[in-house]
Parts: sequence; C-alpha cells; structure tokens
Amino acid sequence: MLLRCPNCHSHDLGKVGTNQLYCWHCYIEMTIDGSDIQNIYQVEEDGSLTSLNDLFLDEPSNPQEYTAL
Ligand SMILES: [Zn+2]
Repeated sequence: MLLRCPNCHSHDLGKVGTNQLYCWHCYIEMTIDGSDIQNIYQVEEDGSLTSLNDLFLDEPSNPQEYTAL
C-alpha cells in the first residue's frame, strides 16, 4: 500500500472496503480509485461522516454516492 494518510501522512491505513481506506491514527476514511484519493471523510463519534474534501483535495470532484458501512 503506497497511499499515505493525507492528514498525518501515516502508511498505517486499514482497508475497510473495496475502495475504502481508514486511518487508524486520525480516524478519517477515504475512498480511492487506484492510487488516487477520491473523497476523504472524518468519522465522527456517532459514526456519521463529514467530508474533508475541501481541506485535502485541491481539485473539485463530483460528489459520489457513498454507502456507509
Ligand atoms: Zn491519518
């Protein structure tokens, strides 16, 4: 796994879905396409997801349908 967490730059990412990774250090989840990060979410204490795309992704991307686990 070559991807690093865009927040803490850790390689310690767990795979939680076919195209979904989770950072164990800062509790963010990201969806990927190959080696490109498509969307980044912060997992809140209640399990809801907050998009962090504005913080970490420079280029605007179309909102993608996201299915919570
Ligand atoms: Zn992280």
